[in-house]
Amino acid sequence: MTKGAAKMNGKENYRRGKRRRSSQKQEDAPKEKTVKDLLPSSPSKNPKWRKKCKYAAGPNRPSLLEKLRLRLSGGHFRMLNEKLYTCSGNEAFHFFKKEPELFDVYHAGYQEQMSRWPEQPINIIIKWLKSRSSSMVVADFGCGNASLARTIENKVFSIDLVSTDPSVIACDMSHTPLESKSVDVAVFCLSLMGINYHSYLKEANRVLKPCGWLLIAEVRSRFDPNNGGADPDKFSEAVKQLGFTLSSKDFTNKMFVLFYFKKREGGASMHKAIDWPELKPCLYKRR
Ligand code: SAH
Repeated sequence: MTKGAAKMNGKENYRRGKRRRSSQKQEDAPKEKTVKDLLPSSPSKNPKWRKKCKYAAGPNRPSLLEKLRLRLSGGHFRMLNEKLYTCSGNEAFHFFKKEPELFDVYHAGYQEQMSRWPEQPINIIIKWLKSRSSSMVVADFGCGNASLARTIENKVFSIDLVSTDPSVIACDMSHTPLESKSVDVAVFCLSLMGINYHSYLKEANRVLKPCGWLLIAEVRSRFDPNNGGADPDKFSEAVKQLGFTLSSKDFTNKMFVLFYFKKREGGASMHKAIDWPELKPCLYKRR
């Protein structure tokens, strides 16, 4: 090989090497990102997302429209809930009479809220009733979906503002069609909602037989004096003045409290006006 040819070969090899190195470099370099790569990975594929979002995986993931609908119905529920806590029973009755379909909206939201509670107060009441004679006649004041009547053997009068089931008596529970002294147990499970809640207790007193039971389950915050709630002793005192004795109370649950009263045989002791404490509304936060 002549000197010139060797020089040419050297240059060519150098160029080839450079080309090889640069093409190698291109292969090693990360690929240019596409729009798809920049988007977060699909929730159904990414286990982190699957953990974080309960709807992320599977066919139950709601569409955007469904999410909006859920948000709207959640807002609607909170509005109806506030309404029930801030008006009288009579007003609530006429409100739902005009638009009974709102009752379903309210109860869908109520069930959603309840599903977050580790324990439902109605189940404690069911246990209490099941441990006693099934011959006891029960009145479920503010029965909601009437699950109590469906679960126990006892005769149950289910009462609520709207009747979604033929067995439910639709009325304002301050004035029920039940006969006086006809009931052994009056149940108020999260239903002392109206500003005139004391009229519901007076009605329960009327329909209860002497020595009958008055069971009240209420949201705990309504009986927390440190947070604007009523003093439970003041409440018990008012119920005692109505004609009951306090048999026991249960404040062990984080979400609700329970009072077990018994109707005195002799009825009310005093005839002076009872000083009922105000029960603050239980308003649910937007999530
Ligand atoms: N006791 C049921 C439902 C509780 S929600 C349960 O524990 O699951 C409270 C219920 O009380 C609602 O259904 C509401 O409509 C009813 N309520 C509130 N005020 C009422 C009134 N004045 N008369 C009849 N029902 C009433």
